[in-house]
This record gives sequence, structure tokens and C-alpha cells, in this order.
Amino acid sequence: MKNDNIKLFRDGKRVDGRATDDLRPIKIEAGVLHRADGSCYLEWGGNKIMVAVYGPREAIPRHTQNHLRAIVNARYNMAAFSVEDRKRPGPDRRSREISKVISEALEKILLLEKFPRASIDVNIEVLNAEAGTRCAGLTAAGVALADAGIPMKDIPVACAAGKIEGQLVLDLGKEEDNYGDADLPVAISPRTGEILLLQMDGHLTFDEFEKALDMAIKGCNKVSELQKAAIIQKYKVELEVE
Ligand code: ADP
Repeated sequence: MKNDNIKLFRDGKRVDGRATDDLRPIKIEAGVLHRADGSCYLEWGGNKIMVAVYGPREAIPRHTQNHLRAIVNARYNMAAFSVEDRKRPGPDRRSREISKVISEALEKILLLEKFPRASIDVNIEVLNAEAGTRCAGLTAAGVALADAGIPMKDIPVACAAGKIEGQLVLDLGKEEDNYGDADLPVAISPRTGEILLLQMDGHLTFDEFEKALDMAIKGCNKVSELQKAAIIQKYKVELEVE
């Protein structure tokens, strides 16, 4: 929502001191939950997200089974304490939408034909939310799926670009998301560049859209390096312990 009293740039820098193409700080840890088949804890700016992956396992109830391939159930949930005013617990329109778009993005990259009648369950718990949680959740899901050893073509990754005060920027923060002009979350397969998720909130001209998409993809490629480093770190630690 636009608000002319709020200034999102000061001395050419964004409110949190970033340049237009800087990401917020990101920390990723793979394999943090021992009872899940794969897991990831991720901090991205003020976002704190835990992902637990289960499967492939027999899909229950049985009528949900697809005898040709596995089904993907991504479930995005925001904790009641994750936002400033307490969020009413349980699914709502927004969390159903995000669960659906993340499930569809993951379906494009997982080798589902290998596991007929199975389900792959991806639980995304947002513990602290500060804009960009669908990108952060999908990025953490990519690491957790890799940690679970589930075969996939690539590790999916997501990042948003957007427009604030008429300028294109990477990875909108909370005020930028609230008072900016547009937000463009994008998920890709970094190896092939295939787009797995693309949504847009607000308005961009076609030229701005093309530039913002390019910016988001560059952001995705940077985050992808952090995902790989987190997975390598986990298995390096395990090898050292053995
Ligand atoms: P994303 O988190 O992917 O950017 P949205 O654009 O829908 O998704 O939400 C932007 C931000 O708005 C969230 O990251 C969160 O900080 C905040 N938000 C979302 N839902 C609520 C809610 N029910 N109460 C308070 N803040 C919310």
C-alpha cells in the first residue's frame, strides 16, 4: 500500500541500509530435526523458518494416492506468535494459497514417478515473519528435501524483487513490502533456469517486470550458493564425527 509520508530511501540507501541489489542476511542450517527425514532451519532477515520433510511414504488416506507418481503436500503455517498482532492459529486463505503454489513448484522438480502411491510431506513452519516468507519457506524446503535424500532434478530456490518509490529492488523487507509499489516472488531451478513459481503483487510496467525478474533470478542464484554450503556443512560435520 502506498503511503507518501513513509520514506523508503534515505541518502540513496534503503531503510535497513541496503543497496538496491542487496539481499537481507541469510543463515541456513540443514538437518536440525532428528525425527524428520529431512529438515532445515533458515533465517532470512527477520524471517525464522523451520521445515520438516517426511517421505516418500505411503499416501494416506488411500484415495489420495496416484498410482503413477508421488503426491506432494507442502503445508505452510504461520505460528500465532510469528507476527506483531497475534495471528489466529490454523489455515486461512493466504496459507492455503502459499501451500498450493509451493506444492506446485516442488512437483516440477521432484522425481515423483519413482514413488507411485507415495506422498512427500513438506511442513513449513514460520516462527517469525517479516516479509518474503513464501520465498524463504520454499528455499528452506529445497534444503530439507535434499537433506531427506529425495531425488530431484535440482535444489529449488526462491527470491523476490520488487519496486519501492519507483525503483526496482531485490528482496523486499517489511516496510518495503507494506508501503512499496510491487513485489515479485520467483522460484527457479538454478541449474536450468526453469521458473517454478512466479507471482506478482502490485503494478510493474512490462519493462520493469523484465528487469525485476532478472534481478530476482540473480538473487536466487546467490541464495542457491548458501543452500549448497549448508548441505555440504551438514555432511562434512557427519563425516568428521564418524
Ligand atoms: P510473503 O511473506 O511471502 O511476502 P505476503 O506478501 O502475503 O507473503 O505477506 C507479507 C508479510 O506480511 C508477511 O511476511 C508477514 O510479515 C506479514 N503478514 C502476513 N500475514 C499476516 C497476518 N495474518 N498478520 C500480520 N502480518 C502478516
